[in-house]
Amino acid sequence: MHRIPVGRPALVGNEKAYVMECMDSTWISGGGGKFIDQFESLFASFCGSKHAVSCANGTAALHLALLVYGVGPGDEIIVPALTFVATANAVRHCGASPVFVDSDPGTWTIDPALIEQAITPRTRGVIAVHLFGHSADMDAIMDVARRHDLFVIEDAAEAHGASYKGRPVGSLGDIAAFSFYANKIIATGEGGAVVTDDASVAEKVRQLAGHGMDPNRRYWFPVVGYNYRMSHIAAAIGVGQLEMAEWHIGQRRMVAALYLRRLTSVEEIVLPVEMPWATSVYWMFSVILSNKLAVHRDDVILQLADQGIETRPMFPAIHTLPPYRDATRSSLPVAEHLANRGITLPTWAGMTEDEVEFVASTLISALACGG
Ligand SMILES: *Cc1c(COP(=O)(O)O)cnc(C)c1O
Repeated sequence: MHRIPVGRPALVGNEKAYVMECMDSTWISGGGGKFIDQFESLFASFCGSKHAVSCANGTAALHLALLVYGVGPGDEIIVPALTFVATANAVRHCGASPVFVDSDPGTWTIDPALIEQAITPRTRGVIAVHLFGHSADMDAIMDVARRHDLFVIEDAAEAHGASYKGRPVGSLGDIAAFSFYANKIIATGEGGAVVTDDASVAEKVRQLAGHGMDPNRRYWFPVVGYNYRMSHIAAAIGVGQLEMAEWHIGQRRMVAALYLRRLTSVEEIVLPVEMPWATSVYWMFSVILSNKLAVHRDDVILQLADQGIETRPMFPAIHTLPPYRDATRSSLPVAEHLANRGITLPTWAGMTEDEVEFVASTLISALACGG
């Protein structure tokens, strides 16, 4: 049987050659090798930002961004309830508390109109997540944040190359975190980056990611740092990926366009939107089963699996997970609905039109609703 994975990295450029160059040079860790510098400068310009500091993964990037703002015990950080769990975990890694806000029913990203009521005297900042490749409504988020003197971190782990009102994500908030995990749009295996326009912030991030070493005094450690460095091999893969960034993004958008064309007439499912102010990069094409459908979401997933198609349930709403349940003040109905009824379909660069068609038609028969 032809198996279709939910995600797959496309290593079709110079990745292999650059990795071999690392091997031959014996530069395999971060530190001295040229690919770290190359990757960081390529990525900063890709984001329309002045500085990118590479790090071990996207969760480390979020943690570093929070640490730069001095987030610690007693602080509250506003995060969307519907995101990958790492967004909230990074807040807990600082000893601080995430406060969950419901989703906008259109874009599925944090609903800016609900942020204000979640603010308390302990609130320090907001993490805006560009979910599934679609930007959050940044102007509205920045507006409420500025009025309450809060910082805004963009979690852009799912949105490399996406834009908001013509500006690239990663350059919209005070600081941004990216992931380069294997299933992300730009992939290095494990990897992350913190992006900022502020040179002193970038330097602080680099220091914290490198054991806290004083940038002007080797092997002197004025603060407790972390080992959050990216490996040189990962950076080499990343340079190969960034050389073809437009292709990777174009492939995602093409797969999404094929799904949209095929599924648009199916009334029983809700498709992702692309707001007039956004260019989505469709990290993972997800659909929401309408409540009108009697079929259980997990049964649809099983039926697709029977045909060799790997899908995923939507992220659970984080406030329903054991580590976060007790902290939640109220139910968050939009996030809960999306989490319970959402399915993430196979989406990756190199997927053929026939594969998309097979997934879409198998989904339609699983819903037993024609289309
Ligand atoms: C993948 C992801 C992360 C975490 O990235 P890792 O590199 O796996 O640590 C954080 N936030 C979001 C929204 C993600 O999708």
